[in-house]
Amino acid sequence: MRRWVYGQAFWCQVAATLVWTVVSCLAGQAHGSDVRHLVLEGDVTFEDLGHYVRLPFDVPQGTTSIAVSYTYRWDAAGGAEARGLLDPVVDIGIYDPEKFRGWSGSDKSSFVVAATKEATTDSYVPGRILPGRWHVELGVASIRRDMVIHYSVDIELRDDPLGPPFVPPPPQDVVISRQARWYVGDLHCHSTHSDGQYPMEEVFDYARAIGLDFIALTDHNSFSHMLYLGEMQADYPDLLLLRGVELTTYRGHANVFDLYRPVDYHGTEKGYDINAVMEGIHEDGGFISANHPAHPFARVGEGYIGLGWAYPETRWDLMDFFEVVNGPSVVLGGIPNVLNSMAILLWEGLLSAGFKITAIGGSDDHKAGHGSQQTDPLYSPIGMPATLVYAEELSPSGILEGLKAGHAYVVAEGPDGPRIDFTARSGVRTAMVGDTIRGRDIEFIVEIIGGAGRTLTFWKDGIPWVGHYAVAVDRDPFTYTCRLRPLGPGRLRLELHNGPSLSALTNPIYFAPEPPFWGPDVGAASTVPEEARTASRRTGELVVFLPAFGLIAGLKRRGCKRTSGARWVGRRRVLPLFRSGATGAGSGGIGRQRGPISQVILLPFSEGASKSTKPPSTTGRS
Ligand SMILES: [Zn+2]
Ligand SMILES: [Zn+2]
Repeated sequence: MRRWVYGQAFWCQVAATLVWTVVSCLAGQAHGSDVRHLVLEGDVTFEDLGHYVRLPFDVPQGTTSIAVSYTYRWDAAGGAEARGLLDPVVDIGIYDPEKFRGWSGSDKSSFVVAATKEATTDSYVPGRILPGRWHVELGVASIRRDMVIHYSVDIELRDDPLGPPFVPPPPQDVVISRQARWYVGDLHCHSTHSDGQYPMEEVFDYARAIGLDFIALTDHNSFSHMLYLGEMQADYPDLLLLRGVELTTYRGHANVFDLYRPVDYHGTEKGYDINAVMEGIHEDGGFISANHPAHPFARVGEGYIGLGWAYPETRWDLMDFFEVVNGPSVVLGGIPNVLNSMAILLWEGLLSAGFKITAIGGSDDHKAGHGSQQTDPLYSPIGMPATLVYAEELSPSGILEGLKAGHAYVVAEGPDGPRIDFTARSGVRTAMVGDTIRGRDIEFIVEIIGGAGRTLTFWKDGIPWVGHYAVAVDRDPFTYTCRLRPLGPGRLRLELHNGPSLSALTNPIYFAPEPPFWGPDVGAASTVPEEARTASRRTGELVVFLPAFGLIAGLKRRGCKRTSGARWVGRRRVLPLFRSGATGAGSGGIGRQRGPISQVILLPFSEGASKSTKPPSTTGRS
């Protein structure tokens, strides 16, 4: 369900040392129209760090635009020049009487909010200038303990005749292609609607030029850029413009996709509930991804720059994606980007804890592809990394559902980098990255195109898989197969390296043994995807819990009959006391079966299936 209202329920009232004064309020004639001029001044101190100061002002009927500029200076023990690790930073945004009208962080020292799009500064939402009480909001991002920041906000209320007020267009359903295949794109970049240096058009032009299929423009706390995606989409018939915003709090950043409203970013305010925010995003059809989560600079000394994810209360089942590759894979001419290595470790920890979160990448480009590591060591152009998604169609829901299913891998080398096809087989079952496969003996197949000269490493349950570490990719195309007999549920993923730098990383294929080999009520059932359960339901598959492998074959061949009632164990139906119908050696080298077989587990779990008259079968490869 999409909501049209994009108002903020949140109203922050900071009891700070805030003093605001109207220094001047005058009416004058400027080009034949009224201009009302206000100056709001005050101080913030260390007590206000991470808080938001709201400065109310009244807007009269007939106002067509509001021009805001602000400055701040500071006193500190030892003088204003005595700087710590970070300069003080004060962010700014604005709210009308009903809703959020934009946020530009510390990127813009002046801006205009107007009735029309043409007169409104990027980052701000054009539309009718409602009369009544507005608020400028200042965010105290960084201040030293010994400092006092003096701010001054200059507001001009104008009534120049502008065109008809901008009306936000309704969200549109966009489908670029109905073809199910791999699509390549970038899920993180910025434009002039936040602190990017180039307008949206240049971002999309670059994305199209390098052959991306989709791009998410994720400006910081911005809503304004989303208003224009609909009409711009027509200019980019082959490039899906995904709705995105970087939820930018002083405790961490997260990209939110396919949500058509602002997101509450006051993460450091009392009462903020990140889990409620995430639930609200999901309720409105959005998806959320922790950005550069391992960045250490959640708070540096006495300043927030809020990069790393610092919400220990996060319910990780609400996190859809995890940005394990942010920006470049190598920095300073060849040093691996350790922030990404740390993000991968964090992600592995979450996977080990049972949260199936999809790894994605994002360039976090702020320069529409025109930057350089010569001047910015952490620069990475749009498409580096690229995220590849197997999607049913090239549409927002197609891409995001593909990502949610884990059908994705990250190519740090960019859209022209290696392509990896990583699949698994067990009997008639097959799986791709993100899927779960069951089997006694699972074959994994890797096919790499364009990867010659790289090395391939298998990561099993978070650590390199012995025997499959640093495999030389010495041909193009390159194929590698290996087998695994799982003793319990687990996961296997790939990394491709080019010298010291990460070239690509896949999401895992999750695997689980056939139930016989680890008991009737093991937690692996929770990793079985719904479609697999449905398939079991359809086939009435019978899986047998027995002390030896070969007995299954024997049962299949000779048949068996149920000799007592069924009972439920966990989510599986357990039929105890099966007895084999005959004795003798089976094809699996089974000796004579004496006495009752301990138990038989019937998949699926529905009543209907339990009445199946189909002969029991196992679909695992023998
Ligand atoms: Zn960020
Ligand atoms: Zn960003």
